[in-house]
Amino acid sequence: MKWGGNVLHPTIYLIPLGDFDASHLTIIVENIETQFVFPLKIGSNLAAPSCAVDPVRNQVNSNIILKQLNEVAPSDALKVVGIAGFDLFNPIFSFVFGEAQFEGKCAVVSTYRLHGERDEKKPRRYPPVILRLEKEVVHELGHTFGLRHCSDRSCVMHFSPGLESVDRKSPFYCPVCQELLCWLVARELGRHQALRPT
Ligand SMILES: [Zn+2]
Ligand SMILES: [Zn+2]
Repeated sequence: MKWGGNVLHPTIYLIPLGDFDASHLTIIVENIETQFVFPLKIGSNLAAPSCAVDPVRNQVNSNIILKQLNEVAPSDALKVVGIAGFDLFNPIFSFVFGEAQFEGKCAVVSTYRLHGERDEKKPRRYPPVILRLEKEVVHELGHTFGLRHCSDRSCVMHFSPGLESVDRKSPFYCPVCQELLCWLVARELGRHQALRPT
């Protein structure tokens, strides 16, 4: 992916939420970096605000997490993705794998619903839950840049309501989404440039 005029060193941050083990993120950082020319950094663990926890549902409100991430975003952050191990919901869905601010800065993804029942019996170097997490992070990042859902079932931007469809799709953008993403990124960076004081 190429564009011109980048003087900002924009960075994509992955912020582990709660007690999420950040060592699980190093493996996906390298993979995701191959799809963007931005560096990816893993931030310090961030405690979810208590007001985000719904005591009746025993779940965490993803909208409140997104607001929190916006407030704590580092100054060089182009995008911030919170990575959680707890169960997420929003007012529309009983649970979500993740949620993003469309054409915004922040997204959040949880591994809570990404564990398959059989996963624990087959320990592997690259556990399925990590590959699923990688796909969901790339998917939500696509939304933050302005990509919508894609009808190509192998594209990472395909809507996945369950683990089966997450497993079916690849961790990559299809050629159509990739081309659109290049254009959206260039447009967004142009906007950032325009906001810079001279
Ligand atoms: Zn989506
Ligand atoms: Zn696509």
